[in-house]
Amino acid sequence: MNTLEYVPVPAFADNYIWLVSDGRDAVAVDPGEAAPVRAYLAKRGWRLAAILLTHHHADHVGGVAELIGDTPIPVYGPAAEAIPVVTHPLAGGDRVTISAPHLELDVLDVPGHTRGHIAYFEAGEAPGVPHVFCGDTLFACGCGRLFEGTPPQMLASLDALAALPGETQVHCAHEYTLSNIRFALACDPENARLRQWHDEAAAMRARDVPTLPTTIAHERAVNPFLRSDDPAVVKALGEQLHETVPDRLASFTLMREWKNRFR
Ligand code: ZN
Ligand code: FE
Repeated sequence: MNTLEYVPVPAFADNYIWLVSDGRDAVAVDPGEAAPVRAYLAKRGWRLAAILLTHHHADHVGGVAELIGDTPIPVYGPAAEAIPVVTHPLAGGDRVTISAPHLELDVLDVPGHTRGHIAYFEAGEAPGVPHVFCGDTLFACGCGRLFEGTPPQMLASLDALAALPGETQVHCAHEYTLSNIRFALACDPENARLRQWHDEAAAMRARDVPTLPTTIAHERAVNPFLRSDDPAVVKALGEQLHETVPDRLASFTLMREWKNRFR
């Protein structure tokens, strides 16, 4: 029985550092900043047992050295990226086993935002639900910018995440949901679930409640970057951008470029 708690600790302007705890030991995912993690651990009386990193950007790794101090806890991260604090380099297909809190994580290669970006999938034991920590690859209603990878790489990475079980809880690393929904509505204006999600997410943000985690099933229904072959999305893209959209890769590429300049 999975009795772990998954907490988004806000950091910087819009980052979330996810903590997973069994009530005593905790794992931190992408701690870009040490202070908010320290404060939360102290408040709950949790002990930091391990750190998981998805990619090398400073807003995801910047707090690691200060958090570990002189305590030699394992720091997992992508083997394909130069992150000096990583003690356990990982690549897709690897499995991470942490004893406390008890976690079995499958590593997925999800390049695109960065060249070596990885995600951690926790299949969970029945009757628990699966979880994924996807860093800056998949966001609620959006996806990461392509800083180092190519559109085909990112599309394949998003396909791999979209293929996870629908009930999978998706732990993204930023609160970008409302601005992502504004863009999504431009790509997918007739999507009733998306319009409803806009109103729900706006109400949550007005109360300063995180819009995360999301789920894979929900993202399949509302995230335009997972719907680049949907006829309504293809039609909207063609009309908005005055482009012909010959295939799914073109649709995804045009959408990602449009998002980069969308205000
Ligand atoms: Zn990043
Ligand atoms: Fe980030």
